[in-house]
Amino acid sequence: MNNSKKNSESVSLISYGITHSNIHYQLSPSQLHAITLEKKMGKEASSGALAVNTGEFTGRSPKDRFIVKDAITTDNVWWGDINIPFEPSNFDVLHEKVIAYLNDKELYVRDCYACADHNYRMDIRVINEYPWSNLFAYNMFIRPTHEELKHFDPEWTVINAPGFRANPEVDGTRQHNFAILNFTRKIVLIGGTGYTGEIKKGIFSALNFILPFQKTTLPMHCSANVGATGETAIFFGLSGTGKTTLSTDRSRKLIGDDEHGWNNENAVFNFEGGCYAKVINLSSESEPEIFHAIKKGALLENVVLDENGTVDYTDTSITQNTRVSYPIYHIENVQRPSLGKNPKNIFFLTADAFGVLPPISKLTPSQAAYHFISGYTAKVAGTEAGVIAPIPSFSACFGAPFMPLHPAKYAEMLSQKMKNAEVNVWLVNTGWTGGPYGVGTRMKLKYTRAMINAVLNGDLGLYDYDHYHIHSVFGVAQPRECPGVPTSVLSPRTTWNDDEAYYTAAFKLTNAFRENFKKFEAFASEEIRRGGPQRYAF
Ligand code: ATP
Ligand code: MN
Repeated sequence: MNNSKKNSESVSLISYGITHSNIHYQLSPSQLHAITLEKKMGKEASSGALAVNTGEFTGRSPKDRFIVKDAITTDNVWWGDINIPFEPSNFDVLHEKVIAYLNDKELYVRDCYACADHNYRMDIRVINEYPWSNLFAYNMFIRPTHEELKHFDPEWTVINAPGFRANPEVDGTRQHNFAILNFTRKIVLIGGTGYTGEIKKGIFSALNFILPFQKTTLPMHCSANVGATGETAIFFGLSGTGKTTLSTDRSRKLIGDDEHGWNNENAVFNFEGGCYAKVINLSSESEPEIFHAIKKGALLENVVLDENGTVDYTDTSITQNTRVSYPIYHIENVQRPSLGKNPKNIFFLTADAFGVLPPISKLTPSQAAYHFISGYTAKVAGTEAGVIAPIPSFSACFGAPFMPLHPAKYAEMLSQKMKNAEVNVWLVNTGWTGGPYGVGTRMKLKYTRAMINAVLNGDLGLYDYDHYHIHSVFGVAQPRECPGVPTSVLSPRTTWNDDEAYYTAAFKLTNAFRENFKKFEAFASEEIRRGGPQRYAF
């Protein structure tokens, strides 16, 4: 469908119903940067990056993410409180209202695409109300070449109107903000929120529905990198567990930061063209690659700057979820194009705030399937006065909010691919050690990196009794030694100095695993169930 006229400088949006707008097409990052400053919508940081506040929302709003229930989705989406249905007629009315709202605005339009493997390429047109949101689209999606742009035919459209407010009483939304996927019309409609993550996660969710049907390609919420000998590693994990941090490693080439496909031609490909890193407590010492990627072209969100434009990364007065987006080429060591062979190692990252999971352990295929379906991490509440107990958090496939199909579909595909590729799967606790949140401390980044490098360099010793200890509660294989990591750190029980308290906490967590797994029991094979923890409290 070629539903719009364009040349390299301009585009007509008449076919979208937008008639009178002042439209800026395909502006460069520096133009968008300059316009944002001119309109006083952002500030320039001393590093040259643009810094904006995203407004009321500084994170995604999962309760306001809907999928239009239509002929394509009705029988295929796993409906519930994650994939919330939306009436097609409500969508049509709301869509018209958003278009009317945008019709007298200056707009920023970008043509770009997702999926570095051209067999899966999805051409996208992003229509933004704000110039800086369009810079985000430049940074995060793949940038077509001049030649590719000549024949560009957008398949999906993202319509992004942060200033528009829905009226829940008549529009069918929960409140004034919304992000709605429409598979029939191929539109991601976002309103009432300026949080940029909704833009990329909208397209990710669409791909997560489409790709499993196309040549059984598995979409994954993971980062990926490749070593000097060409061996790929991928890192699954929920928000804040370390996907971005750990995949950005100077000794390995970065394939991608957050979203990948694993195709049937034995390759992993990045969906995106950029990275979206958390910057809370960022320092040039501990994370030099990310720190130095924050230069002209990068877009900082919700950070606090002093009068000289210096960012205080420890300041969380706006949000804990301070972020930066930058195009992947801001990182020095990257794989071009963003493709890798079948992974040799898969890491499941979890930030266990109970401090009971081993910092690294090897999983059997059963355990890998069980942990993938469970998708465990822990949430720590605010860091203000008083210690607030952590909450276990389970999110199937380490990304339930973006997975429209039943988790079993993704889990089956992953199990099959893991078997074919003979990969090793590791569970890595990037969370607490020496006790739970409030008592212990977060695992040192340098230790986690050392453990991962030991796996990737083959330095962990043979997988046998001499080198591994089977954890009595979780049943996972814990290495006894690891170069660069004090031996005591490898055993969480030892770091606690209180066996009884440790086991009490461990059983609490295994009970939470069991409780969560109940909803998957009906379809889980005996093999998958065997992968759960070995002991529970009664
Ligand atoms: P998202 O899905 O939201 O993008 P993510 O999995 O990419 O999340 P990161 O952005 O890598 O998560 O965030 C991990 C945070 O935890 C970073 O701020 C990092 O500095 C911090 N951190 C502290 N200790 C560790 C550790 N041992 N391993 C990994 N990250 C750690
Ligand atoms: Mn990330």
